Amino acid sequence: MSFTIAIDGPAGAGKSTVARLAAKKLQFIYVDTGAMYRAIALGLLCTNTDIEDRSALTDALNQMEVSIRYVDGAQHVYLNGEDVSGQIRTEQVSDMTSRSSAKPEVREKLTSLQRNLAASEDVLMDGRDIGTMILPDANLKIFLTASVDTRARRRFLELTEKGESCSLEEIASDIAERDYRDEHREIAPLCQAKDAILLDSSDMTIEEVVERILTLARERM
Ligand code: C5P
Repeated sequence: MSFTIAIDGPAGAGKSTVARLAAKKLQFIYVDTGAMYRAIALGLLCTNTDIEDRSALTDALNQMEVSIRYVDGAQHVYLNGEDVSGQIRTEQVSDMTSRSSAKPEVREKLTSLQRNLAASEDVLMDGRDIGTMILPDANLKIFLTASVDTRARRRFLELTEKGESCSLEEIASDIAERDYRDEHREIAPLCQAKDAILLDSSDMTIEEVVERILTLARERM
């Protein structure tokens, strides 16, 4: 039986950074499900698909194959065989991802891929609905959050370090808008599973969050 850890929470709470580090320490496979939704969103943008047109959306999804592979321990996401990992982190893709991930057709496409990964390997999977929908029997569930302010400041620093010009207020309002969409969609909304442990990273360092997750995981192994 594999050991599974689910980490859910809103954008910018630090999920992927801490999940990657914790998975490495535990020698688990890290699965970033957001990257899979992003790859689909990129495909929808590239094909100019009107996601409100259900038959156009279904047709476009039928032409897309998403897979993940690990290169030197890092997850790479592929769309129809092409490594798109470097193209999925733009604001345009983030916006399309948050809109297209609310569509049942999109979620259906990724559910079995994610469950199959966890069936045979010890995984640490992060996303929005892992503890509630994808792995309801996960051995450990964490709901990682942080204030909108903290998350916006983190994103602002990340972008300015990359040399991109941006406004803190705009980032905060984008984050709040994406939270709203993720929390209020009909299918698999972002919410804390009843048996998930809440961790607020606003006043914690990355190392502290990782340590806490490792302790909780080891208690259950
Ligand atoms: O985690 P990340 O910020 O990369 O996710 C991008 C978007 O993908 C989220 O805002 C959310 O709309 C969607 N997502 C989702 N379910 C997941 C992971 C991500 O709906 N399990």
